[in-house]
Amino acid sequence: MMKLQANVTEAFRAAEPFEPAYLRSFESGELARKAEEAVASLERCRVCPWHCEIDRLADQTKVCKTGRYARVGSSFPHFGEEDCLRGWNGSGTIFFSWCNLRCVFCQNFDLSQQGDGQEVRPEGLARMMLTLQAKGCHNINFVTPEHVVPQVLEALPLAIRGGLRLPIVYNTSAYDSLESIRLMEGIVDIYMPDFKFWDPELAKRYVKARDYPEAARAAIKEMHRQVGLLVFDAHGLAKRGLLVRHLVMPEGTGGTREIMRFLATEVSPDTYVNIMAQYYPAGKVNAESYPEINRRVMPIEYQEAIRIAHDQGLHRLDPRRPWASYGLEMEHANASEGEEWREN
Ligand code: SF4
Repeated sequence: MMKLQANVTEAFRAAEPFEPAYLRSFESGELARKAEEAVASLERCRVCPWHCEIDRLADQTKVCKTGRYARVGSSFPHFGEEDCLRGWNGSGTIFFSWCNLRCVFCQNFDLSQQGDGQEVRPEGLARMMLTLQAKGCHNINFVTPEHVVPQVLEALPLAIRGGLRLPIVYNTSAYDSLESIRLMEGIVDIYMPDFKFWDPELAKRYVKARDYPEAARAAIKEMHRQVGLLVFDAHGLAKRGLLVRHLVMPEGTGGTREIMRFLATEVSPDTYVNIMAQYYPAGKVNAESYPEINRRVMPIEYQEAIRIAHDQGLHRLDPRRPWASYGLEMEHANASEGEEWREN
């Protein structure tokens, strides 16, 4: 079997044999209780921080445009995720349609803001999970699940009865309600929030939610409380814990310094962080609408973000680096033990 990470330190090794968190919740009846509670809550929806209080059981829709059932844009083994998730057979990604944010630069605009995809009933969602498992994927990766937590919980018991045993990745913008994240306790193995913006005014401008930073901070702290630091198996695959993403934005609009300081001081300096450089103008961004972010991130901005993270005391940075896209030999400043990744 392939090994991804040459030297996963003992401190960050998962207990073996691995058992997904949801199995115990399923066997105790807790998962069924949570699913029932979550679906009932759709009658006056407060599933995410918008607290729309509409009746989604009656198929009413508001900010996230999603009624009783989830919509899925696509589902496939994804090889673009972090090495510890994609492994050698891919991360079993299920992209939900619609979103509870309105990021003006969204790179999946057709799914998130135009709703491309198909309505999926619980049986269909369970089938997708089992198909991804049968394809050899290393995990089930729910992308943009903030507005469909009840639908995910409703489908899970069907998938578990069908034999699902992969860890679950909750891949979120972090604009989650604490109620939803608490419902996911004992269900999710890996939380993967993307902390996008620190400044409320910039959050309002770019993702259309002024309270985004506050909601993200609360959600990430709760996620960490539940699952702790990211740990790997002997092959370098992530099994449990928190993996935070941060997309570097042009002109420092994301607030990298404040976000890294928050992670280091209010979560843990051992937090696993992926600082991403792949921003490009998309969605509604153009020279007239948002001129200040109408360009790619420059190498110097990305290098500065990495330096800031190290300065703040974070030392578990995802080691995949965008050298290819820059054509640069960028030295990974602090390739400490446990951070060097190789396929062998
Ligand atoms: S999940 Fe959708 S309907 Fe419910 S509160 Fe959030 S945006 Fe509103």
